[in-house]
Amino acid sequence: MTHKASHHVLNTSRLRVFVSFTQVKRLVQKVHSPHPSLNTSLEGEIQAFLTDEDLLHTYDDLTKVNPVTPTTVLKCLQARYSVKVFYTHAGCTLVALNPFQPIPDLYSLDVMKEYHGAPQPQEFKPHIFIVAEEAYRNVQGQVQPVNQSLVVSGESGAGKTWTSRCLMKYYATVAASSSVVKSQDIVERIEKRVLDSNPIMEAFGNACTLRNNNSSRFGKYIQLQLDRCQLLVGASVQTYLLEKTRVACQPASERNFHIFYQMMKGATDEQRKEWKMPRGQRFVWLPNYEKTVDEDCFRETLEAMVHLGINVERQRQIFRILAGILQLGNVNFFSSTDESQPCNLDEQSKDFLQRASELLCVPAEELQACLRVRTLKAGKQSVFKPCSQAECSVRRDCLAKVIYGHLSCNKTVLPTKHSNGKPSYLFVYNKQLFEWLVTFINKSICADKSMWSNFIGVLDVYGFECFRVNNLEQLCINYANEKLQQHFVAHYLRAQQEEYVSEGLQWSFVKYQDNQSCLDLIEGSPVSVFSLLNEESRLNRASDAKTLRIRLEKELCDNANISWDKFSKEPHFTVAHYAGKVNYQIQGMVEKNKDPVPPELINLLQRSDNLLLHQIFTDKDADNPATKGLSKVTVVSKFKNSLESLMKILHTTTPHYTRCIKPNPDCKPLTFKKEEVIMQLEACGIVETIHISAAGFPIRIPFKSFLQRYGLIAKYSNFNSGSHCLDVEAPSSDVLRQEVEKLLSVVLQHKASDPSHKLDSEKHKSWVHCGRTKVFLTQWMLDLLEDQRKKIL
Ligand code: ADP
Ligand code: MG
Repeated sequence: MTHKASHHVLNTSRLRVFVSFTQVKRLVQKVHSPHPSLNTSLEGEIQAFLTDEDLLHTYDDLTKVNPVTPTTVLKCLQARYSVKVFYTHAGCTLVALNPFQPIPDLYSLDVMKEYHGAPQPQEFKPHIFIVAEEAYRNVQGQVQPVNQSLVVSGESGAGKTWTSRCLMKYYATVAASSSVVKSQDIVERIEKRVLDSNPIMEAFGNACTLRNNNSSRFGKYIQLQLDRCQLLVGASVQTYLLEKTRVACQPASERNFHIFYQMMKGATDEQRKEWKMPRGQRFVWLPNYEKTVDEDCFRETLEAMVHLGINVERQRQIFRILAGILQLGNVNFFSSTDESQPCNLDEQSKDFLQRASELLCVPAEELQACLRVRTLKAGKQSVFKPCSQAECSVRRDCLAKVIYGHLSCNKTVLPTKHSNGKPSYLFVYNKQLFEWLVTFINKSICADKSMWSNFIGVLDVYGFECFRVNNLEQLCINYANEKLQQHFVAHYLRAQQEEYVSEGLQWSFVKYQDNQSCLDLIEGSPVSVFSLLNEESRLNRASDAKTLRIRLEKELCDNANISWDKFSKEPHFTVAHYAGKVNYQIQGMVEKNKDPVPPELINLLQRSDNLLLHQIFTDKDADNPATKGLSKVTVVSKFKNSLESLMKILHTTTPHYTRCIKPNPDCKPLTFKKEEVIMQLEACGIVETIHISAAGFPIRIPFKSFLQRYGLIAKYSNFNSGSHCLDVEAPSSDVLRQEVEKLLSVVLQHKASDPSHKLDSEKHKSWVHCGRTKVFLTQWMLDLLEDQRKKIL
């Protein structure tokens, strides 16, 4: 299979158009037709030709569809989808439509090699490998080396995780190094380890939801570390906001994390015995057990664990903990007739509790006590108070969450100023089973800083969410999407436009939607949804949804992005996000933000004889904040902090955006629903990007760097200029510009003299423009320059 499209370049005064050979033939036939109505300019012909709907599927770049409107773009994507073409450029963005079925050979080794080996991969059919290769070449940089970020976005089920995996596989293949790593007596090639981190993280962090059978319930940013020779020498993973509530509470028709099903389905008889999971045993926390998905593959997870150096003993500890969690889910509490007595357990629940205690290696009586009785500290004395039936269940769920993915011991201590002026300490909880795993993976795959010089980051985060009921999780997720959208807008739209203006370029201004006011509403200071939520959380009063609702309305009334449905019975607020309006339920938000863990539970886990559990929950550096009465970081503060550090990293890299689109809500193969797609195209700003990229010059190089790279073309063209002005100390911009202009005219004349290319050098201004300090180029012009430079070298 060849991916090299047979392309001919037709130069219009506006932009470069790639068309296939057959298209050229058709066009030429039209131009030479004696019919008078066809006696128009070539450009007019191309315009007419561009709007030919029969050929829409041939457009590799949405910016070439003419005119660019949401309707034509949609038609183009639909036409391509119908002929099984899933990738399309949209200027600087790549649009990826999910085929929802395996496409043979689309990601094969040969295809990778083809893209990697090509002098100009951009001229190949659009593919995720073009983005991958571009980032890879950029790391070494034509002008200067710079770290790269591949931002993959889209709604749940659109194909983000699939795309991220493709990208990782690509680098693991084309940048394979000979380095090996050793841990736990296993020597492994680093690329294999990096890839093996995926099945483990997906087993523990993905679940089957209504939208996607393999939905990632956490965000991740993976940095692929490259050495000076551009070889992959390691990687590091940062994860964001695992949806830990899923471990104890699965939405209707959805499932728990894959790993539990993998264990239950893949265990040997011996393991079943050890984990106290006899065949046929039903677990409340394993709903929809009958549903089989591809991800129910225990063996693959185990193999990956071995490759990453998680030894058999550690695995044993992990699986016993997980089995213990499942047993907990089957424990039910019954109110006691005497309110002064703790809740009762029936015989079955007693059995499950016993099993849980054995698997978690904690004394059964203590486990029972922790779940049923609250310990209140009154001075030095402890007072014991029985919990209600509902409170017991909350404690049981909390125990499962705290073990699986929640918080425990504090390690990072952030000093903050308390209102009384004295410093108080905020504890960032950072150990949990999931995070322990991520930390372990990082230790196993991260290269020493001395070994790598640059990185390519791949960001796979949850897309915008709008459900019937939305709460704190959706607020955080949508806030993250607002941040990324702003980054996107800032990077491609605003920055581009502002630069054009400051460089004196004239061009048509497209209005873009800035979402700063929405971000101010959510995270701004002094007042915002987050600040009010945190204040309510710190006040530690019985959470009252109405109070928060009143405060939001009173204190944020100036922001146009928030509104209320006056007739709604439930306290809520509505945020106008860039991607649409979302109603947030206030009930339970403060409690979720506090995410309290009864200290008795932590104490119990600290005393576990399961070495891993003990290790996860024991920290000698700091005491349990709950018992010390210290404030702890709220969920939104922690999330905001981690997101801000991510944004800082992103700002130092060159971003490449891939927008994954889910063509239908039912994950049906090769089914394209227009309404679904258009909403996603608008929500991710594609329509605006198309306008801007098509009209502009996507490549900008400062004069000096330009002359440094291309000056030699002039030298070898009997044109005594180019880089000599660089010898002068600090030449003025004017001098540099003159040199650049001369050089450009040489390049274009040279091209024009090539008999195979008829070129009107007067038109060169359409492909290149000298600003005040930089030269602005179209891709075509860059290719031409690179071409001529290569011939000389
Ligand atoms: P997201 O991470 O955006 O929620 P996924 O990457 O998990 O979505 O994709 C959802 C499903 O869609 C995958 O499990 C896979 O079945 C299918 N899919 C996504 N991208 C592709 C692709 N390029 N080719 C074939 N199937 C795909
Ligand atoms: Mg995913």
